[in-house]
Amino acid sequence: MKPIVKSEKLNNVCYDIRGPILQEAKRLEEEGFSLIKLNIGNTAPFGLNTPDAIIHDIILNMKDAEGYGDAQGLFSARNAIVLDLQTKGIMDTGIDDIYIGNGVSELISISMQGLLNSGDEVLIPMPDYPLWTAAATLAGGKAVHYRCDEEADWNPDLADIRAKVTDRTKAVVVINPNNPTGAVYDREILEGIAAIAAEKALIVFADEIYGRITYGGAQYIPMATINPEILTISFDGLSKAYRAPGLRSGWMSLSGNKKSAASYIEGLNMLSNMRLCANMTAQLGIQTALGGYQSIKDLLLPGGRLKEQRDIAVEMVNHIPGLSVTTPKGALYCFPKIDCERFGITSDEQFIIDLLREKHLLLVHGTGFNWDKPDHFRIVFLPDRETLKEALKRMGDFLAGYKQQI
Ligand code: PLP
Repeated sequence: MKPIVKSEKLNNVCYDIRGPILQEAKRLEEEGFSLIKLNIGNTAPFGLNTPDAIIHDIILNMKDAEGYGDAQGLFSARNAIVLDLQTKGIMDTGIDDIYIGNGVSELISISMQGLLNSGDEVLIPMPDYPLWTAAATLAGGKAVHYRCDEEADWNPDLADIRAKVTDRTKAVVVINPNNPTGAVYDREILEGIAAIAAEKALIVFADEIYGRITYGGAQYIPMATINPEILTISFDGLSKAYRAPGLRSGWMSLSGNKKSAASYIEGLNMLSNMRLCANMTAQLGIQTALGGYQSIKDLLLPGGRLKEQRDIAVEMVNHIPGLSVTTPKGALYCFPKIDCERFGITSDEQFIIDLLREKHLLLVHGTGFNWDKPDHFRIVFLPDRETLKEALKRMGDFLAGYKQQI
């Protein structure tokens, strides 16, 4: 039979978070080994559960989720999102400017599909959350990566952003707080990006799914509060702060210069309508999630679980000879640097596979985040203290004798 081949649209799409390293992990698990998995920001396996009030609300109202709903989302949920945006100082987003989707992931795809013609460019951070690069590419666009600078607390390099704008550039993506670096951008940086966007007429896509997850006084500033002259599309959802990634619920909200975007908005409406509606069940939990006490705060304060785990990860990594890491100020990740010369590393993917085989510890290599050198990897610091300590001890033991052979 003639081979059945994937579409050419996928040729330049690179999405390693669920790629070849995972196949090796699967093989080891099938052989009966248990792995410590620090590879994805999945809260449930580490006992970080969805607040009961959200689950309770969904169960009580489940019968209302039987039919298709509004393509942009349940009214009560969108209304709660509008009110939440107002508490953050975003006053010009109305119910019709909100799109609820099956996770932020779906909305990233929709936002790129609706915007890009073949060859249009989108500025995406490097390192990135690779779905942005994959979605822009799959939509026919070109992901152009701008540098985030480790020496400057992983802040975006504004000069690099400016230098990479061309006639084809349509948008700039800002991930704040950042996955994979944990950076939280200050006002000056956001103003700098907004100024470039205003001058060059770019849309700003602000992926702020970690907006409620910051440590030690770091302050998250919503991009949409910076400059009303630009069109800002902000993304948030239930997956991280509400520890409900399996519910698959996220939203995007439009603010700022919406007038100039009537045609693009028509496109977003068409794409939302084409998938009928987002998961109705999950939408039942949004109003409860956003209202009242925000339990994530307990996990972030001194003595809180996530704050402690972050501190353990940073301290232990910085004690391993050949590794160093910038302290993350937000999100659930850090992005350590590895001394490639010392370990003879030329392939970070091979390094992660060697570590997995020898120590049964699963991480993601830096080039999986479109980083351009083999000298970084990402740690997810979601496991409890003891598991995290065990994982980093294994890392130290492994590196003590490692020289890469290819
Ligand atoms: N954006 C960023 C920066 C992420 O890190 C993630 C998940 O890790 C997502 C979006 C995807 O979120 P969702 O679960 O809502 O699809």
